[in-house]
Amino acid sequence: MPRALKPVDADLLRQLHAILPVDCFRAETTPYTTEPRGLFHGRAGVVLAPGATEQVAAILRLANRTGTPVVPYGGGTGLVGGQVMPDGPDPIVLSLERMTQILDVNPADGTISVQAGAILHDVQQAAAAADRLFPLSLAAQGSCRIGGNLATNAGGLNVLRYGNARALCLGLEAVLPDGSVWHGLTRLYKDNTGYDLRDLLIGSEGTLGVITAATLRLFARPRAEAAALLVVPSPAAALELLALARGHFGEAISAFELIHGTGLEFLDETLPDIRQPLARRPPWSVLVDIGLTGGGDPTAMLSAFYEAAERAGLSSDGIVSQSGSQRAGLWQLRESIPEANKRIGSIASHDISLPVSAIPQFIETASERLNAAGQLRINCFGHLGDGNLHFNVFPARGQSRADSPLPPADIRRLVHELVAGFGGSFSAEHGVGRLKVADLKRYGDPARLAAMRAIKAALDPNGIMNPGAVLE
Ligand code: ZN
Repeated sequence: MPRALKPVDADLLRQLHAILPVDCFRAETTPYTTEPRGLFHGRAGVVLAPGATEQVAAILRLANRTGTPVVPYGGGTGLVGGQVMPDGPDPIVLSLERMTQILDVNPADGTISVQAGAILHDVQQAAAAADRLFPLSLAAQGSCRIGGNLATNAGGLNVLRYGNARALCLGLEAVLPDGSVWHGLTRLYKDNTGYDLRDLLIGSEGTLGVITAATLRLFARPRAEAAALLVVPSPAAALELLALARGHFGEAISAFELIHGTGLEFLDETLPDIRQPLARRPPWSVLVDIGLTGGGDPTAMLSAFYEAAERAGLSSDGIVSQSGSQRAGLWQLRESIPEANKRIGSIASHDISLPVSAIPQFIETASERLNAAGQLRINCFGHLGDGNLHFNVFPARGQSRADSPLPPADIRRLVHELVAGFGGSFSAEHGVGRLKVADLKRYGDPARLAAMRAIKAALDPNGIMNPGAVLE
């Protein structure tokens, strides 16, 4: 049984000052206690930004000895409240913002090693400078940090081709809750030597330790890329189009994104400067992106694909990018949808995963049930190629969240029950954080939950690491 946690107090601050240089202490706490969706307001007894792994270890040793909660903090872009602790004794917020070094780029091994505080975009740039690709790509890449990406097993736009953050990581360095340092920055692709601590820490959302550095996989950089936005009559047709695209392009499909007409409508309403290339706003469309590492003309290939899709009755209209800037324009359209959503203001958002083949039926059933409850707008978009939908529910036009015919909790329950019925997951790429703790308890397999609790108790017997996240 863990003893009661204690807040950061004057005595602990004095001890922290005794073991850490003054530049580890942040004066301002507000940026570390707010989160993008405004659902949680965090607490902070002190915000520490250590400059080295040994300092992280010293902090955890002290926290473990005194029973002080620790909330690891990356870029603060998480969407499920994993980075802010709203309840309980004032914690140490441990920001990795000063540990941003690119440690090693090794094209021969196909690896890059970075400190956990490196911004995702900087990792991408360092890989590109060595003529390699680090493929993790997501909306927050300008400010999210790789340690957070790994701790939450982030997904994003290229999972279809390269896998999620877990699939991109070979090794980790991490500080465990007792302050011991695991030196696991391996460049090995194969290492079958027992329990995989790396895979345990990835997706643990700061509840089992603090990732301080990682060795990541690099890939060949596509030499030629193009994108197409194709109008489809339905999600079912979009799935058939995906099968057709796999036949045409094989491994070269980097992304296959479903876009709902409501998303384009929201862009019209909130971000009218974003150019919408199709004359009539389609109810459904798909953004296909291909990247060729060898030879070939991706624009010509996408044009031939579009013609085949038309012949098969899967697409009635579309646009194929003729240049890099046109491709960027199509991506800007897709990537602006979350911002438009934010400006409209959702009642409930869902990051769900489904068997790919179940997606059309799920969308139909979920939409029917919500519409039966009253007037709502649904924006359902996302990474169709890997079965990940962002199924977000908004007030009807001209109405506010307060006018919702259903409270947000009821909407979430309705959607997540249906997802469970289809054999899906209530969190595809955002994690559990604090927002979905009850969902994990409700939908998680009992044997798995018991094993998770046993692992947590074994590695963090005092319960100091990110209390309240993932598990109750
Ligand atoms: Zn996403």
